[in-house]
Amino acid sequence: TPCASPDAEIETFRAAFASLQRKLQRLEEDSRERLGQEKAAIFGAHALMLADPMFEGGILNLIEAGKTALDAIYDKTMEIRALFSSLPDPYLRERAADVEDVGRRLFREVQGSGDVDLNAPGRHILVAEELSPSEAAVLSPEHVAGVITCVGGATSHYAIIVSALEIPAVSGLESRLFYDGDRVICDGQSGVVVVSPTPATVGRYERKRTLFLKEKGDLASFAGKEAMTRDGHKIELRGNIALPEDAPGVLEHGGTGVGLFRTECLFMNRPQAPSEEEQYRAYKTVLENMKGLPTVIRTLDAGGDKQIPYLDELVGPEANPFLGLRAIRFCLRNKELFMTQLRALLRAGVAGDLRVMIPMISDVSQIQTAKEWLEEAGEALKREGVATGPYRLGIMIEIPSAALMAAELATEVDFFSVGTNDLVQYTLAVDRLNGRVADLYQPWHPAVVRLLKQIVDGAKAGDAEVAVCGEMAGDPLLLPLFVGLGFSGLSMSSVKLPWIKSRLSRIALPWAENLAREALSCKSASLVRQILERGAEELAE
Ligand code: PEP
Ligand code: MG
Repeated sequence: TPCASPDAEIETFRAAFASLQRKLQRLEEDSRERLGQEKAAIFGAHALMLADPMFEGGILNLIEAGKTALDAIYDKTMEIRALFSSLPDPYLRERAADVEDVGRRLFREVQGSGDVDLNAPGRHILVAEELSPSEAAVLSPEHVAGVITCVGGATSHYAIIVSALEIPAVSGLESRLFYDGDRVICDGQSGVVVVSPTPATVGRYERKRTLFLKEKGDLASFAGKEAMTRDGHKIELRGNIALPEDAPGVLEHGGTGVGLFRTECLFMNRPQAPSEEEQYRAYKTVLENMKGLPTVIRTLDAGGDKQIPYLDELVGPEANPFLGLRAIRFCLRNKELFMTQLRALLRAGVAGDLRVMIPMISDVSQIQTAKEWLEEAGEALKREGVATGPYRLGIMIEIPSAALMAAELATEVDFFSVGTNDLVQYTLAVDRLNGRVADLYQPWHPAVVRLLKQIVDGAKAGDAEVAVCGEMAGDPLLLPLFVGLGFSGLSMSSVKLPWIKSRLSRIALPWAENLAREALSCKSASLVRQILERGAEELAE
């Protein structure tokens, strides 16, 4: 529709723009309290998107060319959304949802219809085609007992937010499968949804819920205790962090160290790589915050789902980024950049118990080169008279070739940490971000279980410590399996630590070993799953 007066439309747009800017700022502030710094940053990114000249300026141009504010917002949002959706990189493709979120809110501001209130009175399960991060951030767990969506992989911003709110969520289901008023079970732990359940099923899920609530009630009593099984077998429980500021949260939740600091976050949302000095300060802060506890800092894992534009330029377009120049592969081709990080790490080592971890190792030669470069960096610093601290060296086992070569790799390093997010995707050939094959993403698949066993055996043969730091590590269903297979540590997002510690205290080692043996002999994923579920039920008794 052509508009009568561009000036009036521009004024309307500007008022809506300013109002949304204020709302986003408030949302970021509120989210910082409710969801933590890292999640709140999503809305900082939304504010940047809103003020991006391509977006804001583009809309103004369209209005000046005669469109109404509403049409201009709609057209520009769709255009930029389409641009993101067409990108080959899965991480950037997911950002299309963020663009749409911002555009839709701006549209509503102009319409004067404000935000939709999804917290209807009573308690209900919300079923939606799709939920935006900003809609998710204002959900109240008091009213929303669960969320079922069609779109939204486990790594979308929406999913990250509902999980931080502790609202059970399942995605990948068509909303037309549900009718208003249906009785529905939504199990966020296992990703299972049951419509019109039988009384027996309701009973089973009620028992599961009872165990959940019992454990929730016990959480406080585990605060100061060491993490161990019922029969005294100790397991190191550590936290995964993305930013130095997340480190205190690990201690607050009872973690005995950082099991994974994903340093790529330091490289994101900026025009160029952080300098050695900046990285040194960040690593030193983490180590200091951890007060001498083991702190695993992972070297840059750029590429794949982790998009960093100025580094991607060095790589060029790739048809399969997950199989491309990612992580250590990229670092070994960009020595200067990698050496900057290694120097910063070695310097920071004076501040605590540093453990350097290299991601995406697929062959022993890669770790050998990394070791040579670490030595080279250390010698250069010594020549310059700069102090360095001791460190231990480890690798991520997240590629099947590394799992199969675990015994050989273990002789090269001090520790392994299994990146199950990638190990599962590479073993089963299932894109970890693709909702269409989410049902095939089965961490309990016997092929994965057998690889895990091989990793533990290899680590023990080569005298390396072995932990898990993928999402699986924080899943209570899989805990008996890890204990039974012989892992000595698990690292997960801090909020999960007390839960896992509590669940661990219900497990007896021989029982878990038996369960692991059974899982290893299974011929299908569903059989392993049954064993794990039966295990969880036994722990509830
Ligand atoms: C993993 O792959 O399991 C892992 C922990 O690394 P990321 O999720 O960062 O790829
Ligand atoms: Mg990984």
